[in-house]
Parts: sequence; C-alpha cells; structure tokens
Amino acid sequence: MSCLFCRIAEGSIPASKVYEDDEMVAFHDIHPQAPLHVLVVPRAHVATLNDLSPEHDAMVGRLQRRAAAIAAASGYGESGFRTVMNCNADAGQTVFHIHLHLLAGRSLAWPPG
Ligand code: AMP
Ligand code: ZN
Repeated sequence: MSCLFCRIAEGSIPASKVYEDDEMVAFHDIHPQAPLHVLVVPRAHVATLNDLSPEHDAMVGRLQRRAAAIAAASGYGESGFRTVMNCNADAGQTVFHIHLHLLAGRSLAWPPG
C-alpha cells in the first residue's frame, strides 16, 4: 500500500498519535503550523473531499467532534481552534487521503492565505 496516511493508520509508519479507535487515528503534524497541530484521519482511504459519499457523512461528523475533543483536552476549547480540510491543488492538498487539520494555540488569521 503506497498511501502515507493508510500506512500511519495501520501502524507501519510511526507517528505521534494522540488518539485512535476503530474508525480514525489522530497524530501530531510533522510540520506544525501552530502550537497544537493535529491531523485527524479516517482509517478508510478516501482521496479527497470530492470522493465522499453519503455513507461517509457520520464518519466526517465524528472526525469533527473528535477534533473538538482533542482541542478541549489540550486546553483550547474556550480560547478557540480551527479545523480545515484542504481539497486539491488550490487548497494546497499534498496527501491524498482526507485528513482534518486541527490548529490551536495562537491567533489564526482570517481569511487564510
Ligand atoms: P495537506 O497539505 O492538507 O494535504 O496536509 C498534509 C499534512 O501532512 C501536512 O501538514 C504535512 O506536514 C503532514 N505530514 C506529511 N507527512 C507526515 C508524517 N509522516 N507525519 C505527520 N504529518 C505529516
Ligand atoms: Zn490512504
């Protein structure tokens, strides 16, 4: 299997995991863009947001709720945080296995670059 995030999810490539269950893994981004930068990744391989189907709806909701729980557990629930999924070239997607970025710990500019 050549997909980086499938391999991290199955454990054949190491990552600094902060959470995992049957459906998803969450680990620290290797190039953090904020004091807290965690990627929340489904075990199921879905390349981009364009490839989601209705069967994924509940899973995507659980990714978001898990990100909020990780933010809260890290002390950022009240101060705030951002979640984002990048899709394809204009958004800067580089890993083609969907992942939710969780960013917290500094003031995040809006609009994003
Ligand atoms: P994106 O640009 O939205 O596709 O995000 C991919 C993210 O994966 C980037 O923020 C990278 O820093 C991160 N990344 C790439 N390789 C690894 C890795 N081996 N472990 C953790 N994060 C990684
Ligand atoms: Zn994958």
